[in-house]
Amino acid sequence: MNTIAIIGGGAAGLMAALTAARAGSDVTLYEHNNGVGKKILASGNGRCNIINTAASADDYAGADPSFVTYPLKQLNFGYFEKFCHSIGLILDIKEDGRCYPLSNEAKSVLIAFKSAVSEAGVHILTDVSVTALSKIENRFIVETAVDKNRFDKVLIATGSEAAPQLGSSADGYRFAKSFGHEILPTYPSLVQLHLDSKNHHKMAGVKTTAEVTLFIDGKSREKVQGDILFANYGISGLAILDISQKASYALTNKQRVSITLNLLPRFDRASLVNIIEKLFASVPRHDVHTALCGVIPAKIATYLLEDAAIALSTAVSSLNPKEIKKIAHLIGEWKFEVSDTHGFKHAEVSGGGVSTAQVNNKTMESKRVEGLYFAGEVLDVVGKRGGYNFNFAWASGMIAGKEMAK
Ligand SMILES: Cc1cc2nc3c(=O)[nH]c(=O)nc-3n(C[C@H](O)[C@H](O)[C@H](O)COP(=O)(O)OP(=O)(O)OC[C@H]3O[C@@H](n4cnc5c(N)ncnc54)[C@H](O)[C@@H]3O)c2cc1C
Repeated sequence: MNTIAIIGGGAAGLMAALTAARAGSDVTLYEHNNGVGKKILASGNGRCNIINTAASADDYAGADPSFVTYPLKQLNFGYFEKFCHSIGLILDIKEDGRCYPLSNEAKSVLIAFKSAVSEAGVHILTDVSVTALSKIENRFIVETAVDKNRFDKVLIATGSEAAPQLGSSADGYRFAKSFGHEILPTYPSLVQLHLDSKNHHKMAGVKTTAEVTLFIDGKSREKVQGDILFANYGISGLAILDISQKASYALTNKQRVSITLNLLPRFDRASLVNIIEKLFASVPRHDVHTALCGVIPAKIATYLLEDAAIALSTAVSSLNPKEIKKIAHLIGEWKFEVSDTHGFKHAEVSGGGVSTAQVNNKTMESKRVEGLYFAGEVLDVVGKRGGYNFNFAWASGMIAGKEMAK
């Protein structure tokens, strides 16, 4: 019988294990946490944004984003929905293509997978860390602290270094490297950003919506609208997570990264000056800080005025047109230098990893070593926010499971 070892019991490993076992293989899954699927449980704020109905290569980054096209086509949404039914999971499809379990609870996803893999006969070994992987005489040797076992085929589905508190490790990169695979530099993604400014920490806790523009080496690279939240270290919020992949990659490459915040994105620049002028004209006896509180959060108004070098107590009637333009300009384009990301510990995913150039995307098999397979985040594939990362983990895990069972 075809014997398969799967290293890592996350989304990719569970899907591969289930697919291979259903096709008749003898599957052993190694997981060093005390249970499988810790990231599934923590995902989507406990709701698990399990897939996106409209995923395409445009939603991914990496040296070759087109690597995902074939796997995503194999596990298209229709296929995945049927698969979910087969494990007792019904999906709730949102208007923007995001899908969640109908229960709205990530736990449902894990319960469904756990019962499906055990029904399919997968041997699940938890609290067991794989320490080394080698290949001798056409068989793989999987080493743990307590034993060594031989298998015909092995899948590396160890994920990335993101969120190490949930079991992530760089072990997969080490195993892949020992077989001659190239590892592209890794970097945190879907992560908060550190700012180099004298005031962001004084606005910690203030949340608003803004249009965030990302600049890399002075050039505008991405524009996103959504929540922002100032923090002691810098800035977070969904709009920041959405620009973080490009920002983090640029920081890794030692490029200069900055953002501008447009605090009133519904107005164009000319009408913004008009609105501020009208606002000030309607309350001539107010000080400028009180007046600005009518359009932006009070704490933000304080430090925006400090950056504009205008005293908070200045009467609006005494502001000259240049000062009014300056205030309007900062509201529409408040610039902050980005010094770092908040790190792997706080990141949802990682960019970089095992180079896809040496992996066959039709089978997920290594192009260097027969019988060695990769799936999920261990590969140099990183998706946007919105279910795309699980999407690739399920798709690549499903293909690897099918191929290994052949
Ligand atoms: C807080 C959070 C929320 C998220 N929310 C979403 C979301 O809503 N939608 C979405 O699409 N994506 C989300 N993601 C990203 C998503 O969870 C990952 O992209 C996905 O889990 C990757 O699956 P994987 O199987 O490749 O890796 P993982 O899920 O990381 O699984 C790898 C497994 O390998 C195990 N392992 C590692 N090394 C060893 C070893 N040496 N021996 C044995 N076991 C080992 C680890 O313990 C882990 O269980 C979120 C991530 C985080 C951290």
